[in-house]
Amino acid sequence: MLKLYNTLTRGQDTFEPLEPGVVKLYTCGPTVYDVAHLGNFRAYIFEDILRRTLEYKGYRVLQVMNLTDVDDKTIRGANAAGISLDTFTQPFKDAFFEDLKTLRIEPAEHYPAATAHIPEMITLIERLIALKHAYIADDGSVYFNIASYPDYGRLARLDLSSLQSGARVAHDEYAKDHAADFALWKAWDTDDGAVAWDSPWGRGRPGWHIECSAMCMRYLGETFDIHTGGIDNIFPHHEDEIAQSEAATGKPLARYWLHCAHLIIDGQKMSKSLGNFHSLRDVIGMGFRGREVRYLLASAHYRQTLNFTFDGLRAVRTALDRVDTCRHRLQQVAGETTASTTTEIPQWAHVMNTQFDRAICDDLNTAAAYGVLFETIHESNRLIDGDRMTKREAAAVLTMFDHWDHVLAIMQPDQDSAAADTAADPVVTDLLEKRQAARQIKDFKESDRLRDLLRDKGWVVRDTHNGQELRKSS
Ligand code: AMP
Ligand code: ZN
Repeated sequence: MLKLYNTLTRGQDTFEPLEPGVVKLYTCGPTVYDVAHLGNFRAYIFEDILRRTLEYKGYRVLQVMNLTDVDDKTIRGANAAGISLDTFTQPFKDAFFEDLKTLRIEPAEHYPAATAHIPEMITLIERLIALKHAYIADDGSVYFNIASYPDYGRLARLDLSSLQSGARVAHDEYAKDHAADFALWKAWDTDDGAVAWDSPWGRGRPGWHIECSAMCMRYLGETFDIHTGGIDNIFPHHEDEIAQSEAATGKPLARYWLHCAHLIIDGQKMSKSLGNFHSLRDVIGMGFRGREVRYLLASAHYRQTLNFTFDGLRAVRTALDRVDTCRHRLQQVAGETTASTTTEIPQWAHVMNTQFDRAICDDLNTAAAYGVLFETIHESNRLIDGDRMTKREAAAVLTMFDHWDHVLAIMQPDQDSAAADTAADPVVTDLLEKRQAARQIKDFKESDRLRDLLRDKGWVVRDTHNGQELRKSS
């Protein structure tokens, strides 16, 4: 039985899909105005573990992840760069798909881009206007009337008693105490530059929230199983998605709403706006591996805040070495013997298998699942040391690990990059980390000094649009 914590009910619910055997899952995707940072990837890895757990439990998963390629931030970026919106967002879309591979994130079935679904958004807005849940403002923008929808605030548990009737908010992101009628369609203004589409209300562009409503319903139907994101998505994004969708259809949008806690750094949420972020490309450039980042980001339960440190990331290498060494030893014992099922596992490993299943079905408790993995490694090593592991048992334990790894995806070694040895050297990564911090505050003098120090240690550092890249000097 799979239990998932549902933000809607604020409790652990037993998961049952609407249609037997199939799970329809919508995961809010990246806003492609920059490369994604490790905080974003914490959310995508949590969603990947969810998807993989559903598959491990025998479900077929139909997952949709949108690409937000038009919103306040992408438009600002394109206009600042003086290029079209498409030209601006395309490299970030490409980078995102590369990063997913690096982190072993299974691809979704669909990645709809918002700009390719404007007609669906317009149709949904027309429906809301016809039902009097939305109204057209004087400038040609369209707003959702939150007073028309009595359930507004249910997901975020808002107290709307002091709400000012008719107050409006045009921005995509705003705080709970600014809850108000929000924009479904934004009439063109000069800040939008060349970004605009025709609509029944004049030229303009969609609000961020309506994008997800239109795309999830287009691919998954008016009611589907699971909708996810980071906790910062609960309000306003998911609250507004629920209001728009359910007011239009009269049906619940998603039955389970799952949200992951933040990745924090120095006590604050890792985010682009605070400037305290590390992109995946930065840390790969420092010599860490995708597998190590994945391991770290899944090491805490997804609803617990996770604190990012380079020491923590460095420690992962030791943990994964233990995994690799144990698997290697088991392979040596098993020799040519293989096991297609885990039926021949010894009793002690059978207990571990049950514990693994229990951990992952307990609201995806990856921290407990890692605990079971290391207990199994410890016991395997003990038995191999005492010459008490048979070929068939070793083969069965390896098959059991493969079964677990469908969920965790951390056991196969990476194809290493040439720079991978650097991560083992705390002095080098420390210099790279300091240099990145210097570059973020545009202290180029300090950044050059650190580059020279690295050169003295035998490393050449190059700045690319993917971040710092390191190679051994010849
Ligand atoms: P964005 O591109 O800002 O829309 O964010 C994409 C996803 O990353 C959303 O699900 C966010 O909730 C999530 N996210 C952003 N920052 C963090 C963070 N520091 N920790 C965890 N998830 C985050
Ligand atoms: Zn969304």
